[in-house]
Amino acid sequence: MQFKGKTVIVTGASRGIGQAIAIAFGNKGAQVVVNYNSNHEAAHQTVKQIEDSGGKAIAIKADVSAFDQAKFLVDQTIKLYGRIDILINNSGITKDQLILRMTEHDFDAVINVNLKGTWNMIKHSSRTMLKQKSGRIINISSVVGIVGNPGQSNYVASKAGIIGLTKSLAKEFGKKQVTVNAVAPGFIETEMTEQLPDTVKEAYLEQIPLARLGQSMDVANTVLFLASEEANYITGQIISVNGGMI
Ligand code: NAP
Repeated sequence: MQFKGKTVIVTGASRGIGQAIAIAFGNKGAQVVVNYNSNHEAAHQTVKQIEDSGGKAIAIKADVSAFDQAKFLVDQTIKLYGRIDILINNSGITKDQLILRMTEHDFDAVINVNLKGTWNMIKHSSRTMLKQKSGRIINISSVVGIVGNPGQSNYVASKAGIIGLTKSLAKEFGKKQVTVNAVAPGFIETEMTEQLPDTVKEAYLEQIPLARLGQSMDVANTVLFLASEEANYITGQIISVNGGMI
């Protein structure tokens, strides 16, 4: 799988899964737009890591939940590279709470970043991809978007929404050879999951036939495959990367 000369936007690429995806694309010859929201230092570290291994990358700050900032991110990419070959919608947040205690603000915040942010990015980049008659969109959903999870009604709704968005847009864009797929990771060791108590992590581990927690590269490898020539005939699919959890 080579991506020489391809332009890739990875949202939320300053840390965790997004960072692993950005570095993996950089190592395979792509020019990578490393998006972040607030963690300037981490985003620039990601860029440096890509450049140190001979790749090309640039960091662009944008809150994907804001329609105009998502547009800025897409416009800057087109201005710099003239095209968008691959869009990875990875930015995500959690604000877990049982519904009786969850505030409206925390419901809206999670939906806005995870679901609306994904829609914003596709809304702004799809015209270019459709004109090119080529493009790959890969959205990061979650295992819980498929099976549900108590205490995460906001997050699960956003991740299930991403599945619906993926399937609908695969049908809208198919004729122009723009594919839209989602990856649904299981439990991946990142800052997002670090905060969970050990008892919760152990309970997850018991449900995983491969008997280990996932790593960001497990997700990145699947994303790379879906973005590659080898995945030409795959669209509208939700690919689970969860060690067999479901
Ligand atoms: P993470 O380590 O918490 O990183 C989140 C990333 O999203 C950061 O780069 C952050 O940027 C960015 N971000 C947050 N809000 C943003 C916004 N408004 N606009 C643009 N970027 C924003 O998370 P992760 O564990 O790598 O998760 C990445 C994706 O995988 C998420 O969509 C998550 O829901 C999904 N996922 C994760 C797991 C897991 O077990 N970890 C499982 C299933 C699905 P800053 O650094 O600037 O804050």
